[in-house]
Amino acid sequence: MTRRIPEPFRIKMVEPIKQTTFDERRAALEAAGWNPFLLRAEDVYIDLLTDSGTGAMSDRQWAALMMGDEAYAGSRNFYELADTVRELSGYPFTIPTHQGRGAEQILFPELVKRVKGAGQPVFLSNYHFDTTKAHVEIAGARAINLLTPEAFDTTKSYPWKGNVDLEGLAEALETHGGDVAALILTITCNSAGGQPVSLDNLKAASALARKHGVPVVIDAARFAENAWFIKQRDPAYADVPLSAIVREQFGCGDMFTMSAKKDGLVNIGGLCAFREDEDLFSAVQVRCVPMEGFVTYGGLAGRDMAALAVGLKEGMDEGYLAYRIGQVEYLGARLAEGGVAIQTPTGGHAVFVDARKLLPHIRPEQFPAHALACELYLEGGVRAVEIGSLLLGRSPETGEQEASPFELMRLTIPRRVYTNDHMDYVADCLIAVKERAASVRGLDFVYEPPLLRHFTARLKPMV
Ligand SMILES: *Cc1c(COP(=O)(O)O)cnc(C)c1O
Repeated sequence: MTRRIPEPFRIKMVEPIKQTTFDERRAALEAAGWNPFLLRAEDVYIDLLTDSGTGAMSDRQWAALMMGDEAYAGSRNFYELADTVRELSGYPFTIPTHQGRGAEQILFPELVKRVKGAGQPVFLSNYHFDTTKAHVEIAGARAINLLTPEAFDTTKSYPWKGNVDLEGLAEALETHGGDVAALILTITCNSAGGQPVSLDNLKAASALARKHGVPVVIDAARFAENAWFIKQRDPAYADVPLSAIVREQFGCGDMFTMSAKKDGLVNIGGLCAFREDEDLFSAVQVRCVPMEGFVTYGGLAGRDMAALAVGLKEGMDEGYLAYRIGQVEYLGARLAEGGVAIQTPTGGHAVFVDARKLLPHIRPEQFPAHALACELYLEGGVRAVEIGSLLLGRSPETGEQEASPFELMRLTIPRRVYTNDHMDYVADCLIAVKERAASVRGLDFVYEPPLLRHFTARLKPMV
């Protein structure tokens, strides 16, 4: 048996979490309209809703907070952050933003302005994250996803389920010609389950785009986790230091947007950075001032930038990443052993449970993955999130429920927050739900919001 490696930190401050009784959870879920998004966080024992901004900062980051230079313009922390960005990515031009979507909202309109074609501008990507797609559309463009077909089979083991479909990309570049505003390479591919993109694929996709004169944007929220997967899974990189892999990844782009709430290990923050296009950098800075804030703080306090500069480096520590990705893998293995169907291999930040396999008796329009999330909460106070028909919504044209290719429940692991004992507890709860799966009922709307309905919908169990 291989020896289990414990967490690479010791704990010097604790935040109590509260166990509740079944009756308390039942009452809380009723009050939340059978929608875990509407629960009070205090009523949740283990919160696996998202890995975004939910991580724990280190002692060094907390110490850095005390060194905030809160000057409106030219804060020392800005220069330290820009130096860190240059060191890890090679990009000399940095704009801080309040979070990832802040970077998207100031960059995309400028990319659209530069499009030479006469048709509707398009953005191509392995997969646009939901706010990314929203900002593409707000900028008047269309988002086209070109994900490798291997990603759509949850049972198939393929190491690079985040890859760009290169044939599809070549075709789209031909078809849309001068209308392509940018290629967005999302690492890791969040929407496919935190699945990695190989360096070969990043390089090939980037070369194709450059051949057509199309700028390449890296959506770098999980740049360190992606680099870790490359080191683990591509034999050519097994002995390459992680920092060099990170550099090579950024070498495939001309600019990046980043939600620092993921691998940046902070609770709030984002970045937008450029390799050499100073004109574009200046234009985006101009847009930053009214939208995010002056160019040396972009919606962040000096202390936030100080914590981020430290977090970016800690996020690349190989011991930390081994623990981080290992913990996700550990939860996945425990569930698989217990007979729970999951997306394999597990990704960087979450385990995706295949609710269609677990609850085959619940039809898509009764939201099997959402019903599973409710049941998991009732079982043990664990909060997960549905990625399926409820999230997808109705067709804008017909008003009918669209057929989702997936009915998944996402167990998203915050960084450095829970131990593997917590993971065991989560696995035990979900396996218990699986044992009584046949008695789990689907759900129906009490209130269905017209837009982004998964956030605020109220439901009730079918009778
Ligand atoms: C989280 C995320 C974003 C958006 O960032 P926010 O900080 O939530 O605004 C964009 N792209 C990807 C891949 C993300 O995971």
